[in-house]
Amino acid sequence: MAHVSRRTFLEHGGALAGVGVAVSSGRSAAEGVAEVDPGLFSTLRTRLTGRLVLADDQDYATAKRVFYWNPRIEQRPVAIVECGEEEDAVRAVDFARSQDLEIAVRSGGHSHLAWSSCNGVVIDLSKLKKMTVDPARRIVHAEGGVFSGEVARAAGRYGLAPVLGQCPGVSATGVTLGGGLGWLAGLYGASCDNLMSARLVTADGQWHDVDEQTNPELFWGLRGAGANFGVTTSFTARLHEVGTILGGDVHYSPSDAKAVLQGFREVMHAAPDTFQATLNLTRGERGLFLSFCHAGAEIDADTMLQSLRAIAKPTKEVVLRQPFAKLAEKAAATNPGQGAVPAFREVQTVRRERITDDVIEILVDQLAQATPDVVMGLSHYMHGEVCRVLPDATAFPHRQEHSLYLRMAHSWSDARLTDDRFAWSEQWRERLRPRQNERIYANYQTYETKQGSPSVFAENHARLLTLKQRYDPENVFHRNANIAPARG
Ligand SMILES: Cc1cc2nc3c(=O)[nH]c(=O)nc-3n(C[C@H](O)[C@H](O)[C@H](O)COP(=O)(O)OP(=O)(O)OC[C@H]3O[C@@H](n4cnc5c(N)ncnc54)[C@H](O)[C@@H]3O)c2cc1C
Repeated sequence: MAHVSRRTFLEHGGALAGVGVAVSSGRSAAEGVAEVDPGLFSTLRTRLTGRLVLADDQDYATAKRVFYWNPRIEQRPVAIVECGEEEDAVRAVDFARSQDLEIAVRSGGHSHLAWSSCNGVVIDLSKLKKMTVDPARRIVHAEGGVFSGEVARAAGRYGLAPVLGQCPGVSATGVTLGGGLGWLAGLYGASCDNLMSARLVTADGQWHDVDEQTNPELFWGLRGAGANFGVTTSFTARLHEVGTILGGDVHYSPSDAKAVLQGFREVMHAAPDTFQATLNLTRGERGLFLSFCHAGAEIDADTMLQSLRAIAKPTKEVVLRQPFAKLAEKAAATNPGQGAVPAFREVQTVRRERITDDVIEILVDQLAQATPDVVMGLSHYMHGEVCRVLPDATAFPHRQEHSLYLRMAHSWSDARLTDDRFAWSEQWRERLRPRQNERIYANYQTYETKQGSPSVFAENHARLLTLKQRYDPENVFHRNANIAPARG
């Protein structure tokens, strides 16, 4: 087996040429000069319950790849540790640190910037699928590799629902550690508001069982900035009684884009806590479609549906009274799972305080110029319970009423298109990002602001810096919305 590059140790902090990735130790593998003795991999392999994938293994190309993958963010891991039990995470951390290799932690692989791949050791928890639902106590205990849709399905058997995001393939741990916004945010808050405890291994290889009583400060930081402190291998979260909901998609004609955007703004401005919706716009086959969930009384759900029909003439409706789990298991708009997997995917997301007339004009204009694979969206309109929780109650601060996220995702397979595609998406982002008070949601970070991580953590940044200093002073866990000092 060939020797592989090893990262050498950097004594001073610096910023990698990647968004939000600040490092205080280590270079990328490309810069590395030292080599890992193959014998050390053999020893590691015998210690692991799970699997070790190296660059010359057949599965390497698949194992290194995550959902959003393109030439700008591609990584070439030295090793991928597919954990077979929680303890494998410690073995992987110890190994990577002993060899000065960069670390990335992966659960569901849905990071927008391929943060869960890296040029060192990927600690992949996606095979850790143990989960128990306790219907009497209304809690779920799940390992790090359990996906959001899998929790919804398991809890749904008891008429219960987790508070997670809208994509079934995102890991429940990943979405919760960054905040977590989904169909039930108006009723039950963010995912992190429903976290009860977590088990994690920190950079020094130590285990921590963390909850409100045992380590309230670290527990606070885990709820919004959680990827910064270690590898969370399992967690416990609250479930809620959620019966049948009304949900699905109302489609409109792309020629009604402006009216639909204006109507969406009005409907969401007055929406009850029980209602959440995402408006998707594409020039592809699906056109404009408003995906929604109403988790309240049937009569109120019917009223909401009438107001969606009044926005513009629907061209099609796929709306059902259905168990919540069925909606929660439905593929995300940007990931419908049909057709061949594209070679490259990219996403841009911006947060806005309001849907202004300007935003509407720009979205209509961008839609007119978009290629059919582009799916733009307005999602996570902030209202209800998620906004009643104070911004400093957890590390997730972005709880301002009527704020929301704009997103564009696209995919392509011809490498010759790459530069044009990036030019288009960058133009989209630059036209839509706010000129002041710019804020970024950790789970949706696709670019960096001049202010750096204070844009992500706002008023919680200083407190998080102290916590980071205590648990990860060398910034071993930096492939994330990284807590780093502000730049001038
Ligand atoms: C199609 C799609 C739909 C989405 N929908 C929503 C949504 O509705 N609501 C929402 O809030 N977000 C949504 N997201 C964003 C998603 O919540 C974040 O990208 C999240 O970080 C993904 O977690 P993951 O484990 O799947 O991804 P990964 O790529 O595995 O990890 C993402 C980040 O979290 C860190 N991380 C993951 N697991 C752990 C762990 N166990 N311990 C420590 N660090 C860890 C990784 O190091 C990385 O920095 C969506 C993303 C996609 C691609």
